[in-house]
Formats: sequence, structure tokens, C-alpha cells
Amino acid sequence: MHEQTLAIHAGYEKDAMGTMAVPIYMSTAYEFKDTKHAADLFALKELGNIYTRLMNPTTDVFEKRFASLEGGVAAIGTASGMAGIFYAIANVAEAGDNIIVAKQVYGGTTTLTGHTIKRFGIETRYFDVCNPSEIEALVDDRTKIILFESITNPSIDVADIEEIVQIAKKYNIITCVDNTVATSVLCKPLSYGVDLVVHSTSKYTTGQGLALGGIIVERENLVEKIKGNARYEHFNTPDESYHGLIYSDLPMPLFTLRVRLALLRDLGGTPSPFNSWLHIQGLETLPLRMRQHSDSALAIAEFLESHPKVKKVNYPALKSSKQYKLSQKYFKNGMASGLLSFEVESKEEAQSIADATEIFSVVTNIGDSKSIITHPASTTHQQLSDKELEDAGVPAGLIRLSVGLEDTQDLIDDLKRALG
Ligand SMILES: *Cc1c(COP(=O)(O)O)cnc(C)c1O
Repeated sequence: MHEQTLAIHAGYEKDAMGTMAVPIYMSTAYEFKDTKHAADLFALKELGNIYTRLMNPTTDVFEKRFASLEGGVAAIGTASGMAGIFYAIANVAEAGDNIIVAKQVYGGTTTLTGHTIKRFGIETRYFDVCNPSEIEALVDDRTKIILFESITNPSIDVADIEEIVQIAKKYNIITCVDNTVATSVLCKPLSYGVDLVVHSTSKYTTGQGLALGGIIVERENLVEKIKGNARYEHFNTPDESYHGLIYSDLPMPLFTLRVRLALLRDLGGTPSPFNSWLHIQGLETLPLRMRQHSDSALAIAEFLESHPKVKKVNYPALKSSKQYKLSQKYFKNGMASGLLSFEVESKEEAQSIADATEIFSVVTNIGDSKSIITHPASTTHQQLSDKELEDAGVPAGLIRLSVGLEDTQDLIDDLKRALG
């Protein structure tokens, strides 16, 4: 089936009442048929609902639909994108291990990997996403995962996914792509051999800035990389917290299963069923919306490129972009999403332009139907040192736009006025 059909139907079988819209199962717990049924569910002899911290029927539809759009075999929803990224890391790494992360990542991912997990004893080694050959020198036998974004936020670089996958394969390391900005509509990292995809579904998935959420998607046959691999010993040895279960022996997708049984069980960053329902509504129109976001962003990027006050425009679908070739290779129909950034002379000028727009709202979010203008150096990236700012590709005069779904000409006129 084609993507737009999957976006509307995948993962949902109508209940006995023929309910057309996916129901919201606002329930904490589920009744077992009897004590044996309960025991079988807990022992994984049978799969079914136990408690919403672990699974929920509305969230289940969202996970199945999302997995089908990404071309994955299973997915697990989390309370936010950051919870999803943390769980993807925590599912493989422990104190004494290291992970390899692109320098150009979302601000929260930078502080998570550079500060928070350091206190758990996990070291992060960074590479330039525009120069994947740096990865090899960072690998050792305690390296557990390579994490990068398909389109980086906010520096708008495009990763050469195949090149990174090739290096990871050589050392048998799991790769994980944050596909939030590109979305599964533009880019399918799993089809290039990536092992895991994570998203903040708070952005394009919900699409109207309605709900926080995250998701981890697992590729088919990930067990092949994990089984017998010394890097992932805890998948290959008995899990004493789950009466000796060995994940790599199970006939089911093991990565997302372990996130569910161990991490959601113990850490509890579970999505609300209501938020999962909102995300399902978002997925229905995602392919349609991404086309409009991308078309509009390209027109705006071209306008900005011709403006004398603009020093530089970062948008991978621009013919002048260094990453034009990569965007044509990895993104469907050359669409490059709604995120772009441009540089003006100074921090003050950037702030006054942002303040002068009328349709664009000064907000730190992306992927909304409503257009957004952000000055990263004073907001999302404020906690970063000058060195970290430079590494993340965020100069002081950089303005980020998240192009929404308003009329394209109205947005161009608004920027024209604000630029003066
Ligand atoms: C927003 C964002 C996140 C964090 O997601 P939340 O849902 O806000 O926790 C992670 N990665 C990228 C690329 C993002 O844009």
C-alpha cells in the first residue's frame, strides 16, 4: 500500500461497534480473564494489555502506524522526544560505556549526551555530521550506539546516512537516526540500513503543536546485529529483573520490547493515550502536509537568498546548497521539510527581525502549522558555551524559521517587511 493509505489505516482494526475513528482508551489498567491469564501475560506466554505504563490500545495503534510509515517492524511511544532518545541510549549503554553522537544535534540532545548521561557514567564522543570519517577514530569496544539527525536542527545539515551506516557495520555498532525534521515522509533511514529511528512526535507528527511525544522505531531483523555481539551482552544474557529472560532468544523485535519491559516499566516515561490519539490524527495528514511545508520553505529560502541583508541561507533543497546532492539522494521528490535558517550580521539584528514579523510567532518549536521564528543563540541554545554553539553550527546572527502551512506569499511578505 502507498504511504498516504497507510497514514490513514495502518495499525487499526475496527472494534465490534465498527468505530471509524480510533477510540481513546483512557484507562490505567485492564481486567484479566482469570489469574492464569494474568500470569501468562506477565510471563510473555501471551501478549496483551497489563497496565498503561507498559502498553495501551490507543498508543498501540499509533506505534503500529508509525512503524509502518518508517518501514520498521515495531515501535514504542514515549512521553516526549527526549524520553525516546534517552531510552534508545539507556537500552544499550551503561556506566563505563561510550556513545558516538553528531555535534550538530538538537539542543536537548546536546545537554543530555554532554551532561546528564555523563553523571550516569556514559561518555559521549562527538563527530562532525558533515565529516563521518571522524567516527572511526572514536570507536572502541565499549562503544554502544551512533546517534545523528537526518536533517539537523537548527544547523540544517543533511547526514550522509549510507556512509555512517557503512562505518557502523564494520564495527557491528547500532545506529540511530533522529528523523524528527525530515519525517518518515521525506526520508526512510531504515531503508539505508539504519537500525533505529527516533522522533520527537511533538513536531511534524502532531503537526499543529498540540501534544508532546516521542517514538523509537526498530528495523526488521535487528537481532542479527545483537545476537552473540559482545557489545550488547545484556541482550544475550539472562535479565534477572525479568526472571532470566534472554532478549536475543525471543521470536519478536527485541529492542523495543526491552524498552517496554525494562525501561518503561522502571522509568515510566509513557505517553498519555490522549496524546497518542492526537498523534494518530496528525499522521493521517502528514504526507500531505510535508509537501506543503517543503514547497513553501523552498520559496522562502529562494526569496531570502536574494535579499541583501541576508549573509547565508541554509536549506538543503536550494540548488546553491552544499548539501543539495545529499537532499536529492535521501529525500523523496527533493522535498526538504519546513525548517530553514539564515544568517544576518549580528545578534541584535537577528532579534529585531524576529520581533518585527507579524505572522511568524517568536516561539521555540518547529513543525507546527503556524509559522515560527526562533533566535537559537538566545533561546534553545542559550545553555551552550561559545565553543558548543560553534560546534552546533549556531552563530549569534542565525535565525531559524519553521515554515508553517499559511499562504506562502503572505509569509514572504511578512519577512520582507521585517527585514526592511
Ligand atoms: C524537539 C526535538 C527533540 C526533543 O523532543 P521533545 O518532544 O521536545 O522532547 C529531539 N530531537 C529533535 C530533532 C527535535 O526537534
